[in-house]
Amino acid sequence: MADVTADGGGADVLRGQGCAVILLGPPGAGKGTQAQRIAQRYLLPHLSTGDMFRDHIQRGTDLGRKAKPLMERGELVPDAIVLGMVEDRISQPDCERGFVFDGFPRTIQQADDLEGICKRHKLGFTIVLYLVVNPELLVRRLTGRRICKASGHIYNVYERPPKREGFCDLDGSELIHRADDSEAVIGERLSAYDRQTQPLVEYYKLRGLLSSVDAMAEADTVTKSIVGILDGAKAF
Ligand SMILES: [Zn+2]
Repeated sequence: MADVTADGGGADVLRGQGCAVILLGPPGAGKGTQAQRIAQRYLLPHLSTGDMFRDHIQRGTDLGRKAKPLMERGELVPDAIVLGMVEDRISQPDCERGFVFDGFPRTIQQADDLEGICKRHKLGFTIVLYLVVNPELLVRRLTGRRICKASGHIYNVYERPPKREGFCDLDGSELIHRADDSEAVIGERLSAYDRQTQPLVEYYKLRGLLSSVDAMAEADTVTKSIVGILDGAKAF
């Protein structure tokens, strides 16, 4: 059994309204996989800022036109633009019951702003799932990760290989190994992540919203732990 620890009294503030589910955890902790599964099980949209950028750029919105040149130059998109996209996305009807966010917020400022957005859109509560994994396992997971080119389906050559090597089970598209999943840059990514995330972990812990999940188990076991937390919260 995975160790599931509710670090705070998050359940006390539940109101049976929409719920923001936020996944925190280093690259390779399985956020994408777990977010997909939570989204399917609870019929919530799975939000990522990457998808929002692509959508706004494709539709040629004001925010998209501002973000595009920055992204093309590899520059950081300012918070005002990111938050504009996040608020725009959360105002859509499919987010009324809540959403699953993976990869956001990344800073305390963004967390504060997201809290404001959730309040404005009457989302009753927030559950932050902190996926905890040891560094050795992360390196193995990241070097084994393959992502489907067409739809972003995630595989792992060690833990969750596709049926046919190099191709997605679901759509037959080519599986790619991202350059930043190579062993050389992983150590750097992990320590950068730690520096950035520890303050957020403290932030949500202080608010009683953080649940730590032992994410070193198999993906199915991790999902079970998460479902236990979400069902226990009676958020949906
Ligand atoms: Zn696919």
